[in-house]
Amino acid sequence: MNGYHWGYDDVNVIQGGPLDNMYRLKQFHFHWGSKDCAGSEHTVSGKIYPSELHLVHWNAVKYKTFGEAAQAPDGLAVLGIFLDIGAEHNGLHQITDAMYMIKFKETVADFKGFNPKCLLPLRLDYWTYPGSLTTPPLLESVTWIVLKDPIFVSEKQMGKFRTLCFNGEDEENRKRMENNFRPPQPLKGRTVRASFK
Ligand SMILES: [Zn+2]
Repeated sequence: MNGYHWGYDDVNVIQGGPLDNMYRLKQFHFHWGSKDCAGSEHTVSGKIYPSELHLVHWNAVKYKTFGEAAQAPDGLAVLGIFLDIGAEHNGLHQITDAMYMIKFKETVADFKGFNPKCLLPLRLDYWTYPGSLTTPPLLESVTWIVLKDPIFVSEKQMGKFRTLCFNGEDEENRKRMENNFRPPQPLKGRTVRASFK
């Protein structure tokens, strides 16, 4: 433990808090529901948020590749940030404005120069626990850092997520990409620690 302060000192490196090493950002993604009453993968005293952002980092000090790190108990660190409905979020525009370009499967957009720092809330209080990835193969390699304060996005911005499709562009029977979250799982004796009282 390096105390509870953590942060992005470099653009894409997270360190401090429960982490003993620097972890490098590999990718980020969102989970969301078809309606605002569902979407987050974590809940806070039963409260569900409409969306949750995951910034996935790997221990590039101890491991050579992301794949190697994903197999190790101290290999990954995922920062989870809740999204709630409120005013428009300026930092998120770069992403939501690009969504029409990445509407279909296997389409890509360039986010070079995008700094995830602009998606953090002001206060960085968090809960932390050792856990797993939420998508198969559910490897137990993740130090979770879930921020207590949500960031706020407008209903219109949230709506843009729900325009995305699971299908390729030329496929019939288009299926909206929504409800792409895994329901909360039992803690199974894992301890959740808070950085705040
Ligand atoms: Zn995720």
